[in-house]
Amino acid sequence: MDDLLSIGEFASRCGLSAKMLRSYAAAGLLVPAAVDGFSGYRYYSPGQVHRARVIALLRRAGIAVGDITTFFADPDPIRLDRWDRDIAGASAARRRALAQARAALAIDPATPSKGHAMPLTFLAATATRTGGRDTNQDTALAREGLFAVADGFGAHGDTASQLALDTLDSTFTPDHTISELFTAYHEANQHVWQLSRTNGSNQATGTTLTALALTTDAAATVLHVGDSRLYRLRHNRLVQLTEDHTATAELIQRGELAETDAQTHPHRHILTRALGVAPHVDIAYTGVSCKSGDRLLLCTDGVFTTLSPEEMKTLLTSQISPHAAANQLVTHAATRESADNATTVVIDVR
Ligand code: MN
Repeated sequence: MDDLLSIGEFASRCGLSAKMLRSYAAAGLLVPAAVDGFSGYRYYSPGQVHRARVIALLRRAGIAVGDITTFFADPDPIRLDRWDRDIAGASAARRRALAQARAALAIDPATPSKGHAMPLTFLAATATRTGGRDTNQDTALAREGLFAVADGFGAHGDTASQLALDTLDSTFTPDHTISELFTAYHEANQHVWQLSRTNGSNQATGTTLTALALTTDAAATVLHVGDSRLYRLRHNRLVQLTEDHTATAELIQRGELAETDAQTHPHRHILTRALGVAPHVDIAYTGVSCKSGDRLLLCTDGVFTTLSPEEMKTLLTSQISPHAAANQLVTHAATRESADNATTVVIDVR
């Protein structure tokens, strides 16, 4: 009994209330490790804290207790992807209903919002340079409503990044909804995973993929895996909108590494997430606020590891057209010593 925790101690350790714990015990989701036969007091083991924290997080994501119980009985990662899509779909449906209510009430928003504002125009250009490498494994895409960069790695990295963008391009078409965007992204992962499995090399093949899409139900959204980035230049400030999925970026987030030491850290190129290395991929995504006058930049690590944020900002602001800005960035990045492939998509919001 020594290392067992009372229900109160356990509740405070995992951020759940005693009442919730009793209901999870009743549902068979988290059964106490021991119950005092005399007092009826429940005791939990320290080893149960992890599961309890996961349950707390899933509940916060709005997952029903019954669904969580089913998940723990058979922890299939596909279920997490499905929940992810359900949440995106539900939030899109709520936003549509709110927009309809607003229209029915004939109330215009105080400041123009996405639904009522003048439609924004996106003017984009892509550029890529091989740099000091033998081959260019980067790929860029800019078409109506979809902008993306991918940085391939492994024996068939060039095919991987091209395949990812081709799949995204051909799948995200009929109605441009957020759920269709997720489907396209998962499809891209499947295709690269198949390529990786059949390429006959013991070197893993995969790619990063950072895609900005204009959806009809959730406005501008960035979906992202790996260390290619999205930046926004607004009022002369350049802000990075994606977090790298690298070993060093995660150390920085946890406060275990200083940003200045990350540039020389031996693990700075180690990706913690990538497309095509497993049958399922955990996609990071977020809405992107866009307004007229913004200039957006998608780029591979060959750009931001060779150019300083200040140089990037200067190159972006000194060029009038997206085409010239995209080219200037890759030209400067790829001429540095031992330069990686450098790829950009510059998007002006009008
Ligand atoms: Mn690269």
